[in-house]
Amino acid sequence: VIECDEGALHQVVPLIHPKVIVVTNLFRDQLDRYGEITHTRDAIRKGIKLVPDAKIVLNADDSLVASLAEDIPNAVIWYGCNVPLGEQKDAEISDAKYCLHCGTAYTYRWHTYAHLGAFECPKCGYRRQDPDAAVTKVTKSGADGTGFVLGLLDKKTGELKEHDVFVGLPAPYNMYNALAAITGGLCFGLSLSEIVPSLADVHSSFGRMETFDLGGKRVQMILVKNPTGCNQAMGYVKSIDEDFNLVFALNDRTADGHDISWIWDADHEMIADDPHVKQIYVTGDRAEDMQLRLKYADFDTKKITLVKDQTELLSKIKESTLPVFMLPNYTSMLSLRKLLSDATGGEDFWKG
Ligand SMILES: [Zn+2]
Repeated sequence: VIECDEGALHQVVPLIHPKVIVVTNLFRDQLDRYGEITHTRDAIRKGIKLVPDAKIVLNADDSLVASLAEDIPNAVIWYGCNVPLGEQKDAEISDAKYCLHCGTAYTYRWHTYAHLGAFECPKCGYRRQDPDAAVTKVTKSGADGTGFVLGLLDKKTGELKEHDVFVGLPAPYNMYNALAAITGGLCFGLSLSEIVPSLADVHSSFGRMETFDLGGKRVQMILVKNPTGCNQAMGYVKSIDEDFNLVFALNDRTADGHDISWIWDADHEMIADDPHVKQIYVTGDRAEDMQLRLKYADFDTKKITLVKDQTELLSKIKESTLPVFMLPNYTSMLSLRKLLSDATGGEDFWKG
């Protein structure tokens, strides 16, 4: 199994001849690298067309991803969430508001997060496909993991056969990731009894909800690199029912994408008046931009401290008596992770 860069798919595919390709979602990410989001979709399609025998697993809830099915000869297997998640807000649907075919605004029978959900174009009829593998109910959503009922389509009866699943990761996007992994695994010939137990054993790693123990204090790192991911991370932080400190870290190096304007599309306002947020540290090459963003989001500026030096940041975190949540983008995550690993005596992930 490899996680392939969307822009490199058409180069990777001829080398490895994949049996199954899973496409999870398309969000505005690294805009200065890929340009418009439909270009990213078209790059993926170009890769898929090179392996007409491969099974293609698509997220039915993403109108951009779903459109891949229209122009490929491959067998397509769909996964999706059959129930709404969280508050139903239209404002979040920013990446794909309008029908790809006719430009009319989609209506949603329900909505999960970002532009994902049961979309339908009222004009031309382009709509979400019924999934072969679906979340039919969320049974648990906590900091230690997510439980849901998985419905698998029985092709003979047309009914969904239900199974309980627990994945050892929080947040709705990890439920989608689990669903994608289940569907991909089944297409690959694995059985549900092999797949499901291993999902419960999955734990956060490498900056994605990774937790460090810094002298008894919990420091959790959540990688954010686009508005959708950032909103998801802040939604998670907002659900925490205790006081905490926050770190925002923003770099603009090549691996991050030089365009950091996406921070203005993220909904930092959602946690601006959260009484549990006590201190906020901003760091990174573009810390000042981050500070400005928070000021405009109406955070109490007395709570915000600019800390350019990471050693100084570490001592501020050590002084803190409260748990700390860090929201870094990619290269700032790498350096903060090293800082925390060194401070906690951890091993680098590749030596683990
Ligand atoms: Zn339409």
